[in-house]
Amino acid sequence: MKPAYDLIVVGGGMAGATLAAALSGQGLKLALVEAAEPRVEALPNYDDRAIALARGSQRIFEALDLWPELARHATPIRRIHVSEEGGFGFTRLDAQEEGVAALGQVVTARDLGAVLLRRLSALEDLDLFAPARVRWIAMEAESVRVGLEEGRELSATLLVAADGGRSLVRRQLCFEVHRREYRQSAVIANVTPSKPHREVAFERFTRNGPLALLPLHEERCALVWTVADEQREEVLAWDDATFLRNLQRRFGWRLGRFQRVGKRAVHPLSQSWVGDSVKGRAVLVGNAAHTLHPVAGQGFNLGIRDVAALAEVVVEAQRRGEDPGSEAVLRRYEQWRRNDRRGVALATDSLVRLFSNRWPPLRLGRNLGLVGLELCPPARHGLARAAMGLAGRLPRLARGVPL
Ligand SMILES: Cc1cc2nc3c(=O)[nH]c(=O)nc-3n(C[C@H](O)[C@H](O)[C@H](O)COP(=O)(O)OP(=O)(O)OC[C@H]3O[C@@H](n4cnc5c(N)ncnc54)[C@H](O)[C@@H]3O)c2cc1C
Repeated sequence: MKPAYDLIVVGGGMAGATLAAALSGQGLKLALVEAAEPRVEALPNYDDRAIALARGSQRIFEALDLWPELARHATPIRRIHVSEEGGFGFTRLDAQEEGVAALGQVVTARDLGAVLLRRLSALEDLDLFAPARVRWIAMEAESVRVGLEEGRELSATLLVAADGGRSLVRRQLCFEVHRREYRQSAVIANVTPSKPHREVAFERFTRNGPLALLPLHEERCALVWTVADEQREEVLAWDDATFLRNLQRRFGWRLGRFQRVGKRAVHPLSQSWVGDSVKGRAVLVGNAAHTLHPVAGQGFNLGIRDVAALAEVVVEAQRRGEDPGSEAVLRRYEQWRRNDRRGVALATDSLVRLFSNRWPPLRLGRNLGLVGLELCPPARHGLARAAMGLAGRLPRLARGVPL
């Protein structure tokens, strides 16, 4: 019997929802299963965290015609300033130097979620099952069957797991996962400094771990402050004045005095990745395939490139009359994505480790490295292209070309 759907996406977070938006209108019958109610307040990761969208990710949203709505909530990043607490070296990446209007854009996950959910509810070729939780999966030669918690059963040619870092699909289908625990957590909050941020994003390596400040509307900045797990409770218990004083000590005075801090939230940090993102008729995208330390703000940027590449491979297969869930088609996706996934994971992890080490000769080396970068435009250019998500073989959507 022919499966009811061409494609079932499990998970309506940023990756799953973007994939559904990308594949809609391509002659495919789509289903999306999301465990939470399809409201921004109900989805776990559509929270207050700020997402730095790379230039390449912005182009994907432009190609999907989602950017005009997102742009209203976005703050451009004109410059990135990288420094180390107590060190002499620093470097800057500059949009003007790169010939672009902005290196990236900052949106809150909440605003991004709202835009994506609005689009999902308008897609006529998508059946949205939410709230509905996937319980079991049965892989067959010609199709894949998915059982939902309330007893309903769906079938498709291809199953896409976009169900996040604790992916049930990944677990049930026994994908091999590698994991690295950092014993660190990210404390996130909005802070208001006394000086205007001038659309500069700051990355500062401190004795506890990296600290990022991203520009937001109304002269606020989104703080992502990495602290050791042992310190987490203490940091959360600080009153506002103590929090701001300690932040000031770590960050310095480039933004003047920190005056206000909003609600704080905490996220435990780890890195995970799969060696192979394809099994039978199932494929992993986004956090289901990899989670990263947020030091370089690359998690979703990597995930949306998975989405854009998979959408392209599936649509091409469909146009050629191939089975989009076949091993041959899915291998094209896996081969395409493998290097980007490995490269970004390695670079992010190296950054965390390199800057976590307090050994004096290494500190000196790091600072000389930052000075070297500042003095070497070609090296800075390479770094800026990677940070903008414009390095390597780009999917059509990331080049701003529709599917
Ligand atoms: C503090 C912090 C800052 C960050 N900053 C950045 C940044 O600046 N730039 C950047 O690119 N990235 C950033 N990230 C990473 C980014 O948030 C993630 O990469 C992104 O949220 C992952 O989206 P996803 O859709 O893959 O997974 P998720 O957001 O985890 O979505 C998974 C969805 O699947 C659903 N689900 C789970 N199990 C089931 C089931 N069995 N059945 C049905 N549905 C299910 C869940 O309800 C959820 O909605 C940051 C992360 C953190 C923690």
